[in-house]
Amino acid sequence: MGKKVLVVGAGMAGLSSAIRLQHAGYEVEIYEQGPQPGGKMHQIQAEGFTFDVGPTLVMMPSIYQEVFALAGRNPDDYIPMKKLDPMYEVYFKDEPYRHYEVSSDLTKLMEMVEKKGPENARGFLQYLSEIYTRYQVALDHFITRPFRSKKDIYNPFMMQQALKLKTFDSADHMMASFMPDKDLQQMLSFQTLYIGVSPQKGPSLYNIIPMIELLYGVWFIEGGMHTMAQGMARLFEELGGKIHYNHQVDEILIAGGKALGLSVKGKAVTSDYVISNADFPYTMTHLIKEDSARGKYTKEKIDSMDYSCSCLVFYWGMDQTYEKLAPHTFVISKDLDDNLTRIFDGRLIEDPSIYLHVPSQVDPSMAPEGKSSFYTLISVSELGTGTYEWNEKTISHYREKAFETLSKIPGLENIREDVTLERIFTPKDFEQSFSAYRGATFGLQPTLRQSNHWRPQAKSMEVEGLYFTGSSTHPGAGVPIVLQSGKICAEELRRDEPGDDFK
Ligand SMILES: Cc1cc2nc3c(=O)[nH]c(=O)nc-3n(C[C@H](O)[C@H](O)[C@H](O)COP(=O)(O)OP(=O)(O)OC[C@H]3O[C@@H](n4cnc5c(N)ncnc54)[C@H](O)[C@@H]3O)c2cc1C
Repeated sequence: MGKKVLVVGAGMAGLSSAIRLQHAGYEVEIYEQGPQPGGKMHQIQAEGFTFDVGPTLVMMPSIYQEVFALAGRNPDDYIPMKKLDPMYEVYFKDEPYRHYEVSSDLTKLMEMVEKKGPENARGFLQYLSEIYTRYQVALDHFITRPFRSKKDIYNPFMMQQALKLKTFDSADHMMASFMPDKDLQQMLSFQTLYIGVSPQKGPSLYNIIPMIELLYGVWFIEGGMHTMAQGMARLFEELGGKIHYNHQVDEILIAGGKALGLSVKGKAVTSDYVISNADFPYTMTHLIKEDSARGKYTKEKIDSMDYSCSCLVFYWGMDQTYEKLAPHTFVISKDLDDNLTRIFDGRLIEDPSIYLHVPSQVDPSMAPEGKSSFYTLISVSELGTGTYEWNEKTISHYREKAFETLSKIPGLENIREDVTLERIFTPKDFEQSFSAYRGATFGLQPTLRQSNHWRPQAKSMEVEGLYFTGSSTHPGAGVPIVLQSGKICAEELRRDEPGDDFK
């Protein structure tokens, strides 16, 4: 019988470590406070409509597939997916809106870019080449490895690699240096919001996100994103793992500098190892009770850190279908700089950018026949920064902005009247449902000072047998990245287990 591992949370990162460890011969059990697997990759079903609550854009499909392949399964049996073309449409708020179709076919994409003139086309190719070089350095030396001690980073080789990342520039500044066209700059830098940091502040390295979309495509999993969560939970259980749903963990039990197990609903459950997939700042402030076990992550330190933005999402059941609508549409604010500044300084946004996802355009089973399911997202401040309350007045303000913005897209003129069902997730709901600290949907903000070796790591340096995984830990947020975090976490634990021959 293998060593026993208890995992707090069945989010993507928790499932990723749990599957790897169960497959390697450990005996793994997950305690999840909610009723479903997936954490933020949650699903709402109502009156025949199906909505993904959090993630919707599948990037880097090979990372999604990896966890099934390692267990000897065919990923298509769990997460059948297809590539979208166009990947998405982008509108810029103008009179009328300026419109672009962003193709996943580089040949078609070049047509769009060349219409902007040779300087922009050249700049676009130079951007791809430059960022691809940096991406390979990041992949080989930063994203896929842990930083256990200072000497893992402070050595001549790693310092040289860090310089190659050229992270000192901001994402939007880097784009402006390659392409004079403002629309192209914005279309290729707003993606830092996918990980909760402004392109004005996010290191230019995060311009790898649009590169990944352009080179590897945006994909759709049949049945929506939640199929991935269900697929991973199924695989974990097939391998012999156990998930206890509706079981909130109240404490990580620690004595004499060693993790002993968990307290779940007041009852102690013992183990050899503990992994927390609950948001790292929440784990430190709520699940670890002893000051000495937190190390440098005291309450003051946790509160002084920078948090990612949050999201307001409306899930709308629509009483008709829309022939021309893309599965993913972004509408960019007239003044994107002001929009971004307000998200991160906490003011109410007067002219927000809007993201609309319509999964029923790709998979009609996501809505009743003749109807559509709409997911409408607005990036907003996290609860610690926001200067306004999340009440009906705020929600109405943003709902009205969303209607006003989307009604100018051809075919959506009567959007208000077409909504027959509404569900909402505010930052408060993300905080309550998934213990996202301050409702920051992407965890700690990936600023330069909170990335790589500066971000919380998988292995606790204070408590033997305790590990962390998830978006507030290295390498960061986003589904493929937290799947990687789960992998690093499982590998760190295996490295510490004397009976495991993993190197
Ligand atoms: C609105 C939104 C849109 C997004 N869009 C995308 C996208 O398009 N593409 C993309 O790649 N990423 C996207 N993301 C980011 C992505 O969803 C997250 O980075 C990722 O899912 C986080 O996984 P995780 O395992 O770190 O955390 P979580 O999903 O938060 O999992 C943590 C789990 O721990 C559980 N837990 C916490 N405390 C306890 C406790 N005390 N006891 C028991 N269980 C506990 C929680 O219930 C939860 O299930 C989006 C996120 C949001 C919110």
